[in-house]
Amino acid sequence: MTDLLIGGRWTGAIDERTREIRCPADGSLVAVVDEGGGKDAAEAVAAARQAFDQGPWPRTPAGPRGDLLLRVADLVARDKDALARAESLDTGKRLAESRLDVDDAVACFRYYGRLVRTETGRVVDTGTAHAVSRVVHEPVGVCALITPWNCPLPQTSWKVAPALAAGNTFVLKPSELTPSTAIALMRLLVEAGLPDGVANLVLGPGPEAGAPLTDNPDVDMVSFTGGLRTGRRVMAAAAGTVKRTSLELSGKNPNVVFADADFGTAVDHALTAVFRHSGQVCSAGARLMVEDSVHDAFVEAVVHRARGIRLGGPFDEQAQTGPLISAAHRARVEAYVAAGLAEGARLRCGGICPDDPALADGYYFLPTVLDGCHSGMSVLADESFGPVLTVERFASEDEAVRLANDTVYGLAGAVWSGDEERARRVASRLRLGTVWINDYHPCLPQAEWGGFKQSGTGRELGPGGLAEYRETKHIWRNTRPRPRGWFA
Ligand code: NAD
Repeated sequence: MTDLLIGGRWTGAIDERTREIRCPADGSLVAVVDEGGGKDAAEAVAAARQAFDQGPWPRTPAGPRGDLLLRVADLVARDKDALARAESLDTGKRLAESRLDVDDAVACFRYYGRLVRTETGRVVDTGTAHAVSRVVHEPVGVCALITPWNCPLPQTSWKVAPALAAGNTFVLKPSELTPSTAIALMRLLVEAGLPDGVANLVLGPGPEAGAPLTDNPDVDMVSFTGGLRTGRRVMAAAAGTVKRTSLELSGKNPNVVFADADFGTAVDHALTAVFRHSGQVCSAGARLMVEDSVHDAFVEAVVHRARGIRLGGPFDEQAQTGPLISAAHRARVEAYVAAGLAEGARLRCGGICPDDPALADGYYFLPTVLDGCHSGMSVLADESFGPVLTVERFASEDEAVRLANDTVYGLAGAVWSGDEERARRVASRLRLGTVWINDYHPCLPQAEWGGFKQSGTGRELGPGGLAEYRETKHIWRNTRPRPRGWFA
């Protein structure tokens, strides 16, 4: 088998281990892939190091680098159907959502393909006629790119596109659960003409194949998307050699609804905010906060519609959301709900696996609403990353802001209000990397994405996404060198 890409060569794992990839919707076998470990990771880093130190890519001008990214965008668009299918089989996600994810990847490669030509350095006024000062951008070096399983292709593209645009070489380690589109994307990079050794792919579990990337002295930067606990480990490992780190971590995202919001639209979005992809979205609006005067009616409407959500596999066109990624993850979600109930939350719907025999082979969990939640409960402190909505109430704008910010996380969230001034005021007081006003979930390649507080240290997308993968250097040139004569 040849699923790892190292130094331009497709190869198997050194220890010849393999892993079965099974669709979480029904347990069917999707693929058997190579499973690498520390030795494979070390070889991949050595290949990326050599390609950075001696290969042409870091010294290729921005124009041709951008052209290559635009070719990749075209190739991803060409293979949209196959990529979406592969993504759905690995993740269990609805095919329609996977198709949107492929569009997202295309847009990302196009954006950085174009941006890299315009985001050049600058000339600085030196205040003298005899010196020229330039600030230039250079690649950071060898980047370890580590990604999770919930939106594998976009998450990989958000790292690969800016890393390549900036002229880096990289080793990609996707989630061991969802490697298919990472393998496919690497094949497209090769087809687009990327020089050998620039893109390297290692598959395998985090502690075995990912951790060795995070403390390898030949790695200059770690860009990691995943859970908070893993992020802390990655940051600690990277500290040994003071690597640049860009972390995109967990969230517990408030969706704040004021009484003057458009009721029907806010209810509708409250459902997509949390139940899309069964809540396995880092920015899921899993924390609904509703103003007192509309609280009961609002929650009633959300619960009524949540009960009617149709579950099903990726190719079931009637399905509105799908399974969780694994049995282990479903067990974690069940434990999360049990902890909430033990702390006094009220179960309004869901809380169990569906009893439909057609879903028995998948890791499904019913859309769940817990109301009566309040500060101090573990369900408000922790991310479930499943289809579980917690509900809190608030009495005033100040209280809404205080409660929404009362978390270690700061990834994303929304405010719903018919009062534009208030919506803007609240949005500016929320300590979140992204705030939607009267909307939930949209995301643009041109606008930065990333968390405040413990939701991360980095920025993806937008010009800030490119800046993550660049060093900035000041070059001063004396055009008329003369002795200074200080120590004459
Ligand atoms: P995870 O932290 O378990 O794993 C993420 C990746 O890290 C995987 O590739 C895994 O194999 C690898 N890994 C695990 N241990 C490692 C180690 N010690 N060293 C190096 N790599 C290691 O996360 P997950 O369960 O795959 O993904 C879900 C989490 O990701 C959620 O918490 C979610 O909020 C977060 N997420 C965040 C964003 C964002 O933009 N902020 C986006 C998507 C997902």
